[in-house]
Amino acid sequence: MTYDRLIVGLDIGGTTMKAGVVTDAGRLLAEPTIVSTEPEQGQTIGLRKMVNVIRDAIDAAKVDLEQIQAIGVAAPGPLDLRTGMMLEPPNLKPWRNVPVRQFIADDFQKPTAFQNDANAAAYGEWWCGAGRGAGSLVMFTLGTGIGGGIVLNGRIVEGAHSHGGELGHIKVELTNARPCGCGQRGCLEAYVSAPAIVARADEALTRSDDRSTLRNLLPLSAQAVFESAAAGDLVAEGIVDETARYLAMAAANAMHTIDPEVIVFGGGISLAGEPFLQRIRKHVSEFAFPTPAQKCRIEAAKLGAHAGIIGAAGCARHLDPDSRLHAGSLG
Ligand SMILES: [Zn+2]
Repeated sequence: MTYDRLIVGLDIGGTTMKAGVVTDAGRLLAEPTIVSTEPEQGQTIGLRKMVNVIRDAIDAAKVDLEQIQAIGVAAPGPLDLRTGMMLEPPNLKPWRNVPVRQFIADDFQKPTAFQNDANAAAYGEWWCGAGRGAGSLVMFTLGTGIGGGIVLNGRIVEGAHSHGGELGHIKVELTNARPCGCGQRGCLEAYVSAPAIVARADEALTRSDDRSTLRNLLPLSAQAVFESAAAGDLVAEGIVDETARYLAMAAANAMHTIDPEVIVFGGGISLAGEPFLQRIRKHVSEFAFPTPAQKCRIEAAKLGAHAGIIGAAGCARHLDPDSRLHAGSLG
C-alpha cells in the first residue's frame, strides 16, 4: 500500500518508550512497539533503545525506512527545544543533557522534531483529536503530574525559554497553599494531580467524623475517590467538586490569556468522563468572562494512550524532507 506521507512518533516516558508509524491523517499503521526505559542503565544505552524501538516500529508497520519522511520525538521536560536536548528529567535519573534530536536525526538521516510530551499531546489533539479544526487549543494532561500544552494558529507555544504552556504550575491558591513538586506553592499540580487528590481526600477524612465509604478503601487512589463520588459518597463528592473547581480556575486563566476555541482534558482522571467535565464547565462561569465561559468548548481528549506518539508524529509532519538538521523543534 502507498501513503502520501509516513512519520514515526516516539514517546519517551520514565517507564517505557513507545514508537509507531503514523499516516498523514494521524492513524497508527500498527500497534506501538514498546521497550522499558530503565534510565538507571544510563543515557548512552537509552539513546540506543530509542533508535531500536523506532526500527521495531518501522518493521511492525511493514514499511521501509525510505518511506518514512520524518521522525517526531516527545519527551518529558525539562527540555531545551532549541538544541533538542533533554536536560535533567526528574523521572529519568541519572540522565543529563541528552542530545536526543541530534542522535536520532544522525542515526536515521531523517528530519527530526523534538517536543515536550504534554505539548506533543496537545498538538495531536489539535491535529486529529478533540480539537480537530479549531484555531486554538489549550490542553491539560492530568495524571501523576499535570502537563499543559497550547496550540495557537497551528503552532505550539514553546515560549522564549522552552517553558511555554507549563499549565501544571500556574497558581490557583495563595492561602495555606500546598507545596508542589517543583519547589513552589499553590500550583495547579499541587491540587489536582492524582497524588494531590489522594492527599486532599485523606485530609478530609482526618478532619471530619463523617461516614464515608472511602474509609473502607484505604490506602486511597484517585480512581477510588472518583468512583465513590459517582456512587454518592459525600466526602468523595466534595473532593471531586473541589478538583473540578481548581481545573475551572485554570481553564479560566487560559481563557483570559489566549481565549482558545477549545480546552481539552486528557490523562488518567479524564476517565471520569462527561459528569466531571460538566462540573468543570459549571465552575468556569465563576471565574471567566461571560463570553469565553459560554463559547469556549471544554472537551475530553480523544487520542488516549497514543496521544504522545501521534502528537510527536504530528510535530514532524511539516519538516522539510530534504533537510537533515533543524534549528527549531518544529523546523
Ligand atoms: Zn509547581
